[in-house]
Amino acid sequence: MISQNFITQAKNWLVYFTTVFVGIYLHEIGHCVVAWVNGKRAIPTPAKEYLLDTVSSNTQLYMSLGGIIGTVLFSFIIFALYIKAPFTFPKPVFAAALASPGLYCLLFILKGRGHDATEFQEAQAAMGFSYSGHAVDYLFLFIFLLGFVLWLWFSKPPLKIIPKLFAGSVMTVIFIAGLQTVNNRIFDPLFSH
Ligand SMILES: [Zn+2]
Repeated sequence: MISQNFITQAKNWLVYFTTVFVGIYLHEIGHCVVAWVNGKRAIPTPAKEYLLDTVSSNTQLYMSLGGIIGTVLFSFIIFALYIKAPFTFPKPVFAAALASPGLYCLLFILKGRGHDATEFQEAQAAMGFSYSGHAVDYLFLFIFLLGFVLWLWFSKPPLKIIPKLFAGSVMTVIFIAGLQTVNNRIFDPLFSH
């Protein structure tokens, strides 16, 4: 017989990864909104945006910024809802708000940049920061640390949660990498040229 605890755990992970998925999709929609506003055709797929028209280099900067805004809004809205009701707000949803910022921070620490393409640099340039600087890297570092502190403050998690956090982080990296691979394999042949 499957234990009640197992079902609860499985449900939590499902909610977590579904919310991570939604967050990434909002990021891609954020890129596309800027294209749409400029009268250009763009298609958001779950892990990548496809631009069907050519855009000016200026519009390209703002398209990059659009995705960043999507992720930042997603995290801040969840933070705000969590602060309003920290004891009843679903923890897996809160954790999902930290997934993308956490992954960007990990890449920033390991590789020196949070994003392997030039998306962050373009978004920085659109906001008036130095193209070659790290404004967006530090923005996500701030968001990640803010979320972490909020979680420590309100949830006062026990130390025994550390292995679970570690397992969750590893699974998140695998999930996002897998999502991107599957997404590109399906949609690249359709929309890339
Ligand atoms: Zn993006």
